[in-house]
Amino acid sequence: MKSLIINSLGALSILAHVSSVSAASLKVLIVDGQNNHNWKDTTPILKKYLEETKLFTVDVATTSAKGTAGFAPDFGKYDVIVSNYNGESWPDSTQKAFEQFVKNGGGFVSVHAANNSFSNWKAYNEMIGLGGWGGRSEKSGPYLYWDAKAKKIVEDLEKGRGGSHGSQHEFLVEAREPNHPILKGLPKKWMHGQDELYDRLRGPARNVTVLATSFADPAKRGSGRHEPMLMVINHGKGRVFHTTLGHARDAKAPAMLCVGFISTFQRGTEWAATGKVTQSIPDDFPTETKVSTRN
Ligand code: ZN
Repeated sequence: MKSLIINSLGALSILAHVSSVSAASLKVLIVDGQNNHNWKDTTPILKKYLEETKLFTVDVATTSAKGTAGFAPDFGKYDVIVSNYNGESWPDSTQKAFEQFVKNGGGFVSVHAANNSFSNWKAYNEMIGLGGWGGRSEKSGPYLYWDAKAKKIVEDLEKGRGGSHGSQHEFLVEAREPNHPILKGLPKKWMHGQDELYDRLRGPARNVTVLATSFADPAKRGSGRHEPMLMVINHGKGRVFHTTLGHARDAKAPAMLCVGFISTFQRGTEWAATGKVTQSIPDDFPTETKVSTRN
């Protein structure tokens, strides 16, 4: 965000500031190029969702399909980085630049399989709080889930794999921090379009606030726990929004056409960039019993 500079022009400079905010002033960089999901189809969808809010201008930085040598986006030009990337390690200098960007107050958004990436990159795992696959285990950190009896999020250090999911289905997302700016005003429970329900994620789990969980039904081969779906993490001065939602083989994937996914992604990206959410609640947001998707 640009800070407001009061100078001899006084009120005029304030007007200029207001108009620049309304004209898509937040700068987003989506990173992609390698993913076991169809990033070529889904990055344009993510870009469109952000641009639709009129809050963001969006660039995309794409790695080679094989190898990441020379991948060195200028993170400092942006307010928030969105990862649609799940692939090979970035060059050391790029990792360091990204760490500095977030520590110094940059925003970061991790979408679905971005939390599979970089299982050996310490700072990245601190940013996302929890991750899955890539050899993650109890060595990566605890599980986090909602304890329905204690009515709170608990840590569990039990041994076991990090990351799994059952069969895809529609499932209920339940707010655990309904007053957080990202969720404020949204229904406290909503049906999400068919998706993978990530469970048993593990990680450093420090400075994590779990905003919403979903029950991973054993009948769908889930963990039997209320698993984190939406999280925020403070990392240095930076803000991270982590959505586990959004599995997509193509542009028609209901997980990404779901208005619950769209709206929380748009709101989470704004929050990661600024710490606030100014967007209104969409009329077509899903209810507790009914999925709502856009074409
Ligand atoms: Zn997936």
